[in-house]
Amino acid sequence: MEQTFSIIKPDAVKRNLIGHINQIIEAAGLNVIASKKMYLTKQQAEIFYSAHKERPFFDSLVSYMTSGPVQVQVLEGGEAVSTYRKIMGATNPEEAEEGTIRKLYAESIEANSVHGSDSSENAKIEINFFFAGSELV
Ligand code: UDP
Ligand code: MG
Repeated sequence: MEQTFSIIKPDAVKRNLIGHINQIIEAAGLNVIASKKMYLTKQQAEIFYSAHKERPFFDSLVSYMTSGPVQVQVLEGGEAVSTYRKIMGATNPEEAEEGTIRKLYAESIEANSVHGSDSSENAKIEINFFFAGSELV
């Protein structure tokens, strides 16, 4: 069993898509073992996306991620990191495969509805950033 970290981003929360997205996640065999709605602070968004801080889209990304509530979640299952990346689809929804969350719901390359960890190592860091061990059930 592996864990990965997911964010349902402001564009999707705003359009009431949490249930639709979790249905796709659960249909792929992943269990939602922790889930909470929150506003990211500017500082949390900057730290979370610090790997991208030199990229031209960084300021806009931070401002978008703090524009409304997000749903942060921990997913668990077999090969959770790669399974979730697969059902998310490509970063740019125009390149995402049919049936993926981003193909179905993303509004743009920035407002692309979901985040998913890109490795098991980063998943652990991201999970620890948002959840206490006692919240994972
Ligand atoms: N992003 C953006 N413009 C770009 C590339 C990325 O606004 O040209 C945003 C988008 O919201 C993306 C996030 O930055 O999900 C993180 O980028 P990354 O390359 O890590 O994509 P992901 O891992 O989310 O597919
Ligand atoms: Mg990424």
